Amino acid sequence: MKNDHDVTRRHLLVLGAASSAAALIGTGRAEAAPAAPPKVPRRVLGKTKQSIPILLVGGGSGFNGTFDGRIKTALDYGVNYIDTARKYAGGRSEPAAANTLHKLNAREKTWITSKTGSWDAKGFERDVGISLGELKTDYIDLYFLHELDDPRPLDDKELIKTVESLKKAGKIRYFGFSCHSGNVAELLHAASKRSFIDAVMFRYNFRQYGNKELNLAIDAAHKANVGLIAMKTQGSEASFENAWKKFEQTGKWNKYQAVLKAVWADPRITAAVSHMDDMNKLRENIAAALDRSKLTQRENAALERYAALTRPYACDGCEHLCGAALDGQVRIGTTLRYLMYHDAYGERERAKDLFRALDPGARRLSGLDWDKASRACPHGVDIAAHMRRAQEVLV
Ligand code: SF4
Repeated sequence: MKNDHDVTRRHLLVLGAASSAAALIGTGRAEAAPAAPPKVPRRVLGKTKQSIPILLVGGGSGFNGTFDGRIKTALDYGVNYIDTARKYAGGRSEPAAANTLHKLNAREKTWITSKTGSWDAKGFERDVGISLGELKTDYIDLYFLHELDDPRPLDDKELIKTVESLKKAGKIRYFGFSCHSGNVAELLHAASKRSFIDAVMFRYNFRQYGNKELNLAIDAAHKANVGLIAMKTQGSEASFENAWKKFEQTGKWNKYQAVLKAVWADPRITAAVSHMDDMNKLRENIAAALDRSKLTQRENAALERYAALTRPYACDGCEHLCGAALDGQVRIGTTLRYLMYHDAYGERERAKDLFRALDPGARRLSGLDWDKASRACPHGVDIAAHMRRAQEVLV
């Protein structure tokens, strides 16, 4: 990967980034790296009382195993938060992040979040131990139950005891969960009623502003001082690579920057995690974060039009609804998410690996009545078309 770590003044201007960002950098020579790079804004993460940057580095597609220039650049601009997980990049995300942080001697100034898919006490404790080893650290700032889609583990007394003892031993500082299935609202309400949950990372994007149920749940969690981190901020067009072209660039921001700014406009949300798979995306996101101006009315209207035009491409992950219309174990929302990784995020290998790891029944892409499933979808997602695309690119 290109090891270019400088977000130069010229680059920020080319990106159309705001005069405020450019002003922060100063008026030195056009090609010179800023002596003291500006830092992205920070907010407090709920009851942790810790300040974190509004932009977080997602490790879903992994990092360069030797040295990752994106981490270096992110740190230069105050983006000192890495979000990883046991299973990201086939288990390579944690050690790769650790290698770069070690070379930069930056562990102490970087917040690390990791996650495990083991939701029981034993598996959780085991995976915290593995993560500590892979991350080459004595403590992990925040440890999540990964992809929680069931509130029951949050009442597991053994798990709660284990979390408390790991916190006491200093192995994890804070605890929470990530979620993106159809019951995000239910899980946020659950978090709001449990004092041991410090933070939640959940699917949230500009398409959901009118979602009353989700908004009430966000309100409840925010009121209970649960730290809230947004993920999947791009609004998840599951497929059709050119769906994003329906976003008209009305001002200085492209679609990727505009949707991040839309999420940051919500004061209940502390930060947004972004899987910035190349230096260019990192630069664009830093530029958007550095600029403190809000989206204009015209830009918000463009986002709304874009959301409406691409609604049939976007999946909310509520696969219990469409799945119930079919026999078998097919996982429509999950498949569409992997398709999104493939088509919208460009993470082709990761998408294929994840799809291949599903149970055989969940991987079934033919011989099912997709139209019946589409009729059960409240958003009119064209499931048949997406599944044809999944067959082309994921199998
Ligand atoms: S296809 Fe529709 S019902 Fe199925 S998970 Fe996606 S949004 Fe929900």
